[in-house]
Amino acid sequence: MKIIQYFLLSLALIISSSLWSEENLSMMELYKDLHSNPELSYKEERTSKKLALLLRELGYEVTEGIGGYGVVAHLKNGIGKTILIRADMDALPVEEKTGASYASKLKSINQVGQEVFTMHACGHDIHMTVLMGTANYMAKNKEKWQGDLILVLQPAEEVSGGARNMIKDGLFKKWPRPDYNLALHVSADIQAGKIGYLPGWAMANVDSVDIIIKGIGGHGAYPHKTKDPIVLTAQIINSLQTIISREIGPIEPAVLTVGSVHGGTKHNIIPNEVRLQLTLRSYTDEVRSKTISSIKRLTRGLAISAGIPPDLYPEVILKNEYTPAVFNNPDLVQKLESSFKKSIGSENIFKTSPVMGGEDFGMFGRDEPIIPTAIFWLGAVNKDVFEESKKENIPLPSLHSDLFLPDAEPTINTGITAMSQAAIDLFREEL
Ligand SMILES: [Zn+2]
Ligand SMILES: [Zn+2]
Repeated sequence: MKIIQYFLLSLALIISSSLWSEENLSMMELYKDLHSNPELSYKEERTSKKLALLLRELGYEVTEGIGGYGVVAHLKNGIGKTILIRADMDALPVEEKTGASYASKLKSINQVGQEVFTMHACGHDIHMTVLMGTANYMAKNKEKWQGDLILVLQPAEEVSGGARNMIKDGLFKKWPRPDYNLALHVSADIQAGKIGYLPGWAMANVDSVDIIIKGIGGHGAYPHKTKDPIVLTAQIINSLQTIISREIGPIEPAVLTVGSVHGGTKHNIIPNEVRLQLTLRSYTDEVRSKTISSIKRLTRGLAISAGIPPDLYPEVILKNEYTPAVFNNPDLVQKLESSFKKSIGSENIFKTSPVMGGEDFGMFGRDEPIIPTAIFWLGAVNKDVFEESKKENIPLPSLHSDLFLPDAEPTINTGITAMSQAAIDLFREEL
């Protein structure tokens, strides 16, 4: 008898330990697991497998390996609209300094073979957890909606290849074509429990540019026998700052950031070259192409003035796969706004301004014929931290900061509530 009781108790424990049993608690467990096991862009193997398995347990028809480690989960529920909800999976090469008990300590190998610390510093772990919570809610409340729900776990957002690869791999052809595409992104400026939304242009064009500045190396004691690329690089970096401030109209948004400078090996050696990595951000094609052509003109002009021979002029290499600006369909945003009022209350939602961050979710809204697409901001900042920062004028850690730590529980709960209700309202709107 005792043995049977023990057996039944063990069975009950096994069942209740399933992720889908106690939703709030287990969503936090899932989040912490994802947070402490981040994977870089194009390396999202563990994450995609784990989430694909959980989605299958909920009854979704799941396909893996779409555009890399992309996952598409389809739930058919009668005749109706098709709604796609997307979350991104990749983390960043950042060493986490948040001090959280579940902070990432992982290192992984990046695309050029270096070992780097890895962290979910852009909150994609929150996006995935919200998607899974929404998946669970939609599967367990099928009487509230009808149609085709398509959940997408996208790889490689941070390097802006994932969305493009999934679309190329047939995302909009192998599954019913969505009537709406939805996504959210955590915000490091909005309090947890609140949502920001914005119709129209919302996020910027982002280009990555490499510049190779060449010179003629030699001994640090005999600079007159060299063409020093370090000094030239210093001039180039300063001059690049004049493109936005002097050449682009003051009311046109644009940003140019030099994010990486690498050159030289030792105190007393003048190297042969220095490499720079830049991001350029803009909204219009004119500003984008003006900035690129100015970079080419300035770098070449400064190399000439430094006496660099023509075969060693700087190379400006534009990565051809850029992230296009995100356009939020205004009608869809209006529908989301009224849904959010219902789900989290009008006091918790507000209109935000466009930002210069980029998001390759913009690609989802560019595939012809255009699908109405919108992304909204999910507040992630702890209430007390938020109020303290306002009072004391202390800046909050931004996205991609090693200190960015969302207030996970209210953020996730708000995300699931708002996203599930938005999907249900869109499924139920009049055709
Ligand atoms: Zn990011
Ligand atoms: Zn992100």
